[in-house]
Amino acid sequence: MNAGEPRVFRVSGSLVEATPLPRVALYELVRVGEVGLLGEVVRTDGVHATIQVYEDTRGLRVGEPVSPTGRPLEATLGPGLLGTVMDGVGRRLTEIASRGGIFLSSGLEASFLDPAREWDFRAAIHPGQPLQEGDLLGEVDEGMGFAHRVMVPPGVSGTAAEVTPGLHTVAEPVVTLEDGTPLALAHRWPVRTPRPCGTRLAGARPFVTGQRVLDLLFPVAEGGSVALPGGFGTGKTVVEQSLAKFGDADVVVFIGCGERGNEIAELLAEFPTLEDPRTGRSLMERTVLVVNTSNMPVAAREASIYLGMTIGEYYRDMGYRVAVMADSISRWAEALRELGARLQEMPGEEGYPTYLANRLGRYCERAGRVRTTGTPEREGVLTFIGSVSPPGGDLSEPVTQAALRVAGAMWALDPRLAQRRSFPAVDLETSYSLFVSEVTAWMEEHAGEGWAALRRRILELLRRDRELEEIASLLGRDALQDRERFILDAAELIREVVLTQNAFDPVDSYSPLPRTHELATLAYRVFTEGSAALEAGRRLDALPVGELRSALLRLRSMDGDARTAEVDRLVEALPRMMRSPEDPPGTASAAGDDPDHDDVHGEGDSPEGVSGEGVPGEGVPGEGVP
Ligand code: ADP
Ligand code: MG
Repeated sequence: MNAGEPRVFRVSGSLVEATPLPRVALYELVRVGEVGLLGEVVRTDGVHATIQVYEDTRGLRVGEPVSPTGRPLEATLGPGLLGTVMDGVGRRLTEIASRGGIFLSSGLEASFLDPAREWDFRAAIHPGQPLQEGDLLGEVDEGMGFAHRVMVPPGVSGTAAEVTPGLHTVAEPVVTLEDGTPLALAHRWPVRTPRPCGTRLAGARPFVTGQRVLDLLFPVAEGGSVALPGGFGTGKTVVEQSLAKFGDADVVVFIGCGERGNEIAELLAEFPTLEDPRTGRSLMERTVLVVNTSNMPVAAREASIYLGMTIGEYYRDMGYRVAVMADSISRWAEALRELGARLQEMPGEEGYPTYLANRLGRYCERAGRVRTTGTPEREGVLTFIGSVSPPGGDLSEPVTQAALRVAGAMWALDPRLAQRRSFPAVDLETSYSLFVSEVTAWMEEHAGEGWAALRRRILELLRRDRELEEIASLLGRDALQDRERFILDAAELIREVVLTQNAFDPVDSYSPLPRTHELATLAYRVFTEGSAALEAGRRLDALPVGELRSALLRLRSMDGDARTAEVDRLVEALPRMMRSPEDPPGTASAAGDDPDHDDVHGEGDSPEGVSGEGVPGEGVPGEGVP
């Protein structure tokens, strides 16, 4: 045994110490032991190196060899990523599985992309053309017509000497530069380094989720980051999966950062069966799944979120709209805490490393809307949604707080709502969005005119409801006036009809913006018309709130012409029903017992009872309803 060869001299869980490794760099990838376990250098003093190993270190012995690779942990980026399931360091699980089971991998050299598969490269450039990083070389069809844009890798430039269209594997050169540099369909990129982008742009439109409570009250701009905290069972995973399914993105990267062992198994079983509502085909065709199997060491879990983000950036650079979801970043933070403890770093709050917030911040900064580098000019977007699992649902814990500092919106899930099975269990009081003004113009055009005003009014109504609810709980409901009690009823109706949504209803699981706007407008109109009727002297118990609630609930599962007809009917019937439910249709205007009916039928003017300042005048709700 040569004393100069690097050897393992200590094994402590997934951490391995080796020496001598004089030239190894921080974050460099190394092969550890006879079987060549993958690991990453996390500390070096110029002689000894500490390595976090991504794989099971049982069986590894002191004295086994260690070999540096000279490279950091990288993602191999090229056609064939879509539809794959990979582990936290990028090994395709399907491949590992075929070589001896998903959970038995050990030092296997599973390639990131299928090395044998050939892709038909359609060149967009010609020999003699000068090239810069990010320039489009051409395209291959990544499957079902998805144009995978082949780009000059970051940091590379030169003049094209040879261009070879036609069938190629990912490793073969499709373009050769004059200096001899080969450019293949795939290239590698270190996962912890953000991919360069041209210019950062402000968000201009929302990331449409199809979830009413989110799109209407807490919208996120494309390119934003969202924190989704919630205790166990509050619906984080269901929300993330709904967004993966319905969120308006070209490409979805879903990072399953193991909440529970069986949840990952469920994810793997379920995802391939999900249908893409846009194409009717498998959702997996535009999805990349990065999952941590339950027995994977924490180091791989820690790396997984970087791998997922890097893949997201790659599709962003092509000019696509990408959504990256991580479920959950708490498990990443815990991995960081565990590794920090083993390295005997000074712990911060609740044992998490002091750099937790900083690291999460730099991570979330990788989201954004950008003008990419290279020609032709393209815009790419990466929106990030990370769930957080605060122990006991306590939002003051360090990971939630760190996430809040960097996220532009928070969708907090409330265990009490989840217990009542009021889903999505979004807590209306603590949730927020800083993107509202950014997306308003787009919403007004695409969701419906008056979107901003409607949103404000509904939030105001819900705020009043909370105040009155407090009074009622102290003094009883009888202490309230009729119009105040009606606020409670109307808020209840809005919560039930508009803000809850069954993720498993074939129609209602996804609510397009115009439908969200229409439903919210109708529901709010129950409030304005009802308040006006009360003003005009009707009794609270005579208002047909229950009937309208049922009608609106039914409307949520209706589709097509039937829905349009029902909306028209409700728009027409609602004011009349409020004024005089007993009157048969057509005779309402002749009713003599309602002196104010003309006013009531007016333009839905501000009812009393919601805030001292009343409801803002412009953009009368109801106008958006056809
Ligand atoms: P978490 O990931 O926060 O632990 P889950 O997402 O697994 O919670 O949700 C727990 C359960 O709550 C789900 O299995 C489902 O029954 C129910 N649930 C959550 N969200 C919805 C929803 N939008 N519609 C219907 N049921 C839901
Ligand atoms: Mg979950």
